[in-house]
Amino acid sequence: MILVLKTNVEEKKIEELIRTLESSQIRVERTKGVDYTILALIGDTRSVNEGTILNSDIVHRIIHVQEPYKQANRLFHPENTTVKVGDCTIGGGEFAVIAGPCSVESEEQILTVAREVKKSGAKFLRGGAYKPRTSPYSFQGLGERGLDLLKLAKEETGLLIVSEILSTDQLDRFVRDVDIIQVGARNMQNFSLLKELGRVQKPVILKRGMSATMEEWLMSAEYIMAEGNKNVILCERGIRTFETYTRNTFDISAIPMIKHYSHLPIIADPSHATGRWWMVEPLAKAAVAAGADGLMVEVHPNPEKALSDGAQSLTLESYKKLMNEINLMIGKLAC
Ligand code: PEP
Ligand code: MN
Repeated sequence: MILVLKTNVEEKKIEELIRTLESSQIRVERTKGVDYTILALIGDTRSVNEGTILNSDIVHRIIHVQEPYKQANRLFHPENTTVKVGDCTIGGGEFAVIAGPCSVESEEQILTVAREVKKSGAKFLRGGAYKPRTSPYSFQGLGERGLDLLKLAKEETGLLIVSEILSTDQLDRFVRDVDIIQVGARNMQNFSLLKELGRVQKPVILKRGMSATMEEWLMSAEYIMAEGNKNVILCERGIRTFETYTRNTFDISAIPMIKHYSHLPIIADPSHATGRWWMVEPLAKAAVAAGADGLMVEVHPNPEKALSDGAQSLTLESYKKLMNEINLMIGKLAC
């Protein structure tokens, strides 16, 4: 942290500030420029009360040199984190494909998708049992029944299950029956939910909030990790911009940027990023090229009849084609 002092400050006041800072184990290095005096604060600056400093009549501004996230920061953990889920690993060179319908709708629907996705090599089945819909009148998901059906699909196919949690009261059930708990864009800053997820050891997919900066997103990961759960996978799913032709704007730059600042695995969701099924393949390829650790794609046996997100869902055939292309790109079968 750097403090830029106001001009023409009395020496006595500067020394007083330095003494206060040093009394809380912070080393202060002072530099006198032509116009400004700068104080570089070295050490654990978490105890520094920024409000008090800014309110003092000698500090002009505070500049942060360190990112506020620690656990998620590559600086303190240079190796890539890998998250073990069943016999699969996400991150560290493995490529994970999570496919399935937006919502679990019926036994026939989820089993049909599960069988087909498995044939094309995927190891993870996604399906929403609780749906965070924009309208309260839209299909809200099958709830517990949806989780029962996902469990059935797992028993038959061995696929690992990914499903979105909406609130803390669902946690016990998710820990029992789901392999990766998904936190959706709308809940990225539901801090009480994040803290609870930090107290279990289940892997968590943390989707980027619709208008979240990368730092806010990493701070949300920090909430989970600070409670003890280090099994966090980030998911770029598009952000809201002024563009209306796509549902969201796929922020491809998030993939290398997150990898630069964090050691956590990052996957991409080109379905929610675009809202259009025919854009899923090119953006999935772009995500692979940018270094993503995996993909999450929506697949439905009959997208026209889907109860949610049909316009962005791949048919079983187009999913198979996508997987062939992705496997060619990564040079091996995706996990
Ligand atoms: C979903 O995965 O179905 C979903 C609701 O995603 P998001 O939270 O990214 O909108
Ligand atoms: Mn969806």
